[in-house]
Amino acid sequence: MAINQKEVFFVSDKSKYLDVIDQQAALFTDVSDKIWEYAELSLMEFQSAKLYCDVLTKEGFSVETPVAGIETAFKATYGSGKPVIGILAEYDALSGLSQQAGVAERKELVPNGSGHGCGHNMLGAGSLAAAFAVKKYLEDGNSGTVIFYGCPGEEGGAAKAFMARDRLWQELDIALTWHPDDVNQVTSGTCNTCIQTEYKFTGIASHASGDPELGRSALDAVELMNVGVQFLREHMPDSARIHYAITDAGGNSPNVVQPHAQVLYMVRSTLAKDALALQERVDKIAQGAAMMTETTMKKRFIDGCSNTVPNKVLESLFWKNFNEVGVPSYTEEETAYAKALISSYEMTKDSLPGAACEENDEIAAYVDQMSQHGTLPLNDFLIPYHFSTRQSPGSTDVGDVSWLVPTAQINVVTFPSKAPGHSWQNVSCGRTSIGHKGLLTAGKVIASTAIDLFENPQIIAEAKAEFEKRAAGGYYCPVPDDAVPTVVGGQM
Ligand SMILES: [Zn+2]
Ligand SMILES: [Zn+2]
Repeated sequence: MAINQKEVFFVSDKSKYLDVIDQQAALFTDVSDKIWEYAELSLMEFQSAKLYCDVLTKEGFSVETPVAGIETAFKATYGSGKPVIGILAEYDALSGLSQQAGVAERKELVPNGSGHGCGHNMLGAGSLAAAFAVKKYLEDGNSGTVIFYGCPGEEGGAAKAFMARDRLWQELDIALTWHPDDVNQVTSGTCNTCIQTEYKFTGIASHASGDPELGRSALDAVELMNVGVQFLREHMPDSARIHYAITDAGGNSPNVVQPHAQVLYMVRSTLAKDALALQERVDKIAQGAAMMTETTMKKRFIDGCSNTVPNKVLESLFWKNFNEVGVPSYTEEETAYAKALISSYEMTKDSLPGAACEENDEIAAYVDQMSQHGTLPLNDFLIPYHFSTRQSPGSTDVGDVSWLVPTAQINVVTFPSKAPGHSWQNVSCGRTSIGHKGLLTAGKVIASTAIDLFENPQIIAEAKAEFEKRAAGGYYCPVPDDAVPTVVGGQM
């Protein structure tokens, strides 16, 4: 542990607070199942947000909504004074992933409907369980504040980054969260900053053969912009990535000079300041393409989120609590269902579960043994803690929280081993007893960690000292001052 064990006081009997989660398990799993059914897309989570606000108000939290100008964002506060600990919730679904629960074959529930392929129905409900248990602790005469944040639009929209732009997270001392997964681990390392921008070109239509000199092609502008960006790739840092999708090619008639065309760009780099610098170069290429084709270009910021800042002090504390709470175990029936789901995967990666295995041989050997060489259908063990600053290729708007306040996350098993991300298999599993066990476990580990933090201000001080060092470069918000939350494309 990074913290000095001798000076730390851990509440010897936290079980009476954690018991709240078992006593009210039906409420938390019911919230998860309802949100699974609502399956609302990013920034349209009206029923989901209302359900949370109702449940939290009834429990005695003071609820504020909307937050940061986002209708489906909210915060629910209980307690008073310092320290202030934030627990984050997400609840958006993904399009095209409607799927019946508990079945191991592809069966849509709603034709072309949405589904919780990232497990955010469980993410929010597990965080809710944690907030209820922490409230019970605060009710016992302990001072401090817990804030449950309803963070919509993680898959697109990056609400947490908008909340960061408005400096909402600075009211916190610590932020804690989790994400459903196929492994039990404390998340460490970092990821990518990601900025999405739409470029819309407008030209003049004309007969492509009869009056070509009268036309100004917006599609030419998109093509020239893409060529310009291909040349830029040679002059980018190794960690940077640029992706694009042509979202309007101007129509279906080659004999018309296309008067409108549009392209959506995604710029990634480790640090937001580097991604913003690269973004400026892409903007210049777009301007150049417009100039070359005598079209006009309109740029629109879609969303953006920063890389995560790891925190060894918080991660160590999280691991201690995860180890004490323990991981879910499974019945024969659950294992058989997980096996059936696994046999439906079309493709999987052939690596051991857990990010630490790639960096630490000892952990890899342990995980190899525990997972029966990666063949276990449900990973019912906790991966040893491994601090890392390694970069993973994805992006999350938890990153923007972690640049403003010490933040830590865990992963809890809610899906079968090697489950593909954003898959119908995850939707199927997300409303079963496997998912329920995962969310209740996450709730207990987060609550237990939060109680340790309330009891030990010195751990908060140490986490903050570490944060000051790791975030010394300062926060560069990828969201412009005048941007409004919107959703086009995707994020992860
Ligand atoms: Zn996702
Ligand atoms: Zn997710």
